Amino acid sequence: MRMLLNNLQSSLPHTVINENVPLSPLCTLGVGGEAEFFAAPSSIGQMHILFNLAMKENCPVYVLGGGSNVLFPDGLVKGIVISTQNLNSIEWRTPITADIDAGFKLPALMKELRERGLAGMEFAAGIPGTLGGAIAGNAGAGGHGVCELVDQVITIEADGTIKMRNNNDISYSYRKCSLSEGKRVIVSARMTFRTAAPKDADVLDSYLLRRGTQPHGLRNAGCTFKNPEGNSAGKLLDEAGCKGLCVGDAIVSDVHANFILNRGHAASSDIMELVKMCSQRVYDSTGIRLEPEIKFLGWSDPCFCV
Ligand SMILES: Cc1cc2nc3c(=O)[nH]c(=O)nc-3n(C[C@H](O)[C@H](O)[C@H](O)COP(=O)(O)OP(=O)(O)OC[C@H]3O[C@@H](n4cnc5c(N)ncnc54)[C@H](O)[C@@H]3O)c2cc1C
Repeated sequence: MRMLLNNLQSSLPHTVINENVPLSPLCTLGVGGEAEFFAAPSSIGQMHILFNLAMKENCPVYVLGGGSNVLFPDGLVKGIVISTQNLNSIEWRTPITADIDAGFKLPALMKELRERGLAGMEFAAGIPGTLGGAIAGNAGAGGHGVCELVDQVITIEADGTIKMRNNNDISYSYRKCSLSEGKRVIVSARMTFRTAAPKDADVLDSYLLRRGTQPHGLRNAGCTFKNPEGNSAGKLLDEAGCKGLCVGDAIVSDVHANFILNRGHAASSDIMELVKMCSQRVYDSTGIRLEPEIKFLGWSDPCFCV
């Protein structure tokens, strides 16, 4: 690993690679141990070199956007966490089409659209994180997903190539994107919006209103589980008596049972235990296995199994 660090650092004079970097400040749940190595390249070229070298050396690589949908374990996370936080530019190609870096924050994009009188992404109001993370998980609400606005996506592939895909060549479904199967980094996307109409403001308000009913004030990562087909994970969790369950400082919100909150000093292991407890309760009472929406990065057993 020391040799890898030296190789990486000598190939990347413009990207600082740090060791033992605390991950909790980088994740909205405020938990997680330390990344053995951590880097946040500030250009796609530097990202390409870094990702390539790490893949060639068989170093475990974890791509981190805004950290609003991830849970790293406590302790040392072996390998390198590569953040997109410094890939954050937006370039308008036409009045309605932009090339947007993966690390561009979704709330900043919403603001930019509002200022330009553009619409189409009202459903994303209040979703934190980056565009890269949103595409990787097809983030959305109310039956809509970010994939609806995407024209093209540029990625760095595990074999070292840079690929540009038309959106038609990517498959998406509810909180799923085929780009997340296998190791790659989404580095930018071309997106097209539309000119806003007066009714778009009402639609936006209705999404914000719905957000207002969700827990706030304590750190969380949004919904813990995906909704099973034709059902609501929150409702199933509520009916299974999960509200208020806690492990250490991790607690299931009593406002919305699909939210796990960090009351202050939760450990990742507390949150993981609570996720498993909730999942087990729903399984025991309904026979339904909930699929986590949160991504568990860096755990020695990457499969979520109860
Ligand atoms: C309060 C709150 C409310 C939320 N509400 C919603 C909601 O309504 N709808 C919804 O869908 N989500 C919601 N979320 C979850 C989360 O905000 C989204 O999933 C978001 O899109 C994740 O983006 P991120 O940049 O934070 O990704 P991260 O959490 O950093 O990463 C998530 C996953 O994407 C991968 N990833 C990130 N960036 C890249 C990249 N550039 N290339 C390849 N892979 C990448 C990571 O490796 C990881 O597997 C909410 C979260 C919070 C905290």
